[in-house]
Amino acid sequence: MAETRRGLILINTGPGKGKTTAALGTALRAVGCGMKVLVLQFIKGSWHYGELDAVEAFGSNFAGNFVIRQMGRGFVKVGGAEADPEDIRLVQAAWEEARAAIDSGQWDLVVLDEINYAISYGMLDAGLVAEALKGKPEMVHVILTGRNAHPLLVDLADTVTEMREVKHAYQKGILAQRGIEY
Ligand code: ATP
Ligand code: MG
Repeated sequence: MAETRRGLILINTGPGKGKTTAALGTALRAVGCGMKVLVLQFIKGSWHYGELDAVEAFGSNFAGNFVIRQMGRGFVKVGGAEADPEDIRLVQAAWEEARAAIDSGQWDLVVLDEINYAISYGMLDAGLVAEALKGKPEMVHVILTGRNAHPLLVDLADTVTEMREVKHAYQKGILAQRGIEY
């Protein structure tokens, strides 16, 4: 066990399932340790994920120390055409809020869910995110999730996990299951 606490930067990336749910598991652990946790979901906004209700219920039992917010509208147009300006606006707004939350010192752990996805689709500059993380308050932990984590951020992070897909039910034509996928 570490004697001194220090803030870590963690990344969950790769093509296999489990990036967001691993971050939520860490969030659950942190809240149980008395820490204040904010989860900001980039991109997401249209699906109603089970964690939204769970975190709301836990959060109220833990004096508002566990908060989750969807900052997008659930999808972005990809392939060929450049990103919709509205999606870019939402990503930029999510980033401004994320940076303010990290710098506020009000949260012990901030999860930036799917931020890697926003960066890899060119909606947010990796250099900007890296600079902000370099200057973050010492004690704050930050987790970034999403496929295709940018090399700048991978370099900067303390702990990086790449989920590898061995197989996924989707390949058998089994569509997203409530409680497992959303
Ligand atoms: P989860 O939220 O379940 O931890 P994730 O964060 O690793 O998944 P994302 O890339 O954010 O995965 O994709 C979100 C959705 O796509 C989830 O419903 C997830 O179960 C599903 N998914 C993840 N990996 C795969 C895959 N390899 N094939 C098909 N669907 C996948
Ligand atoms: Mg995810």
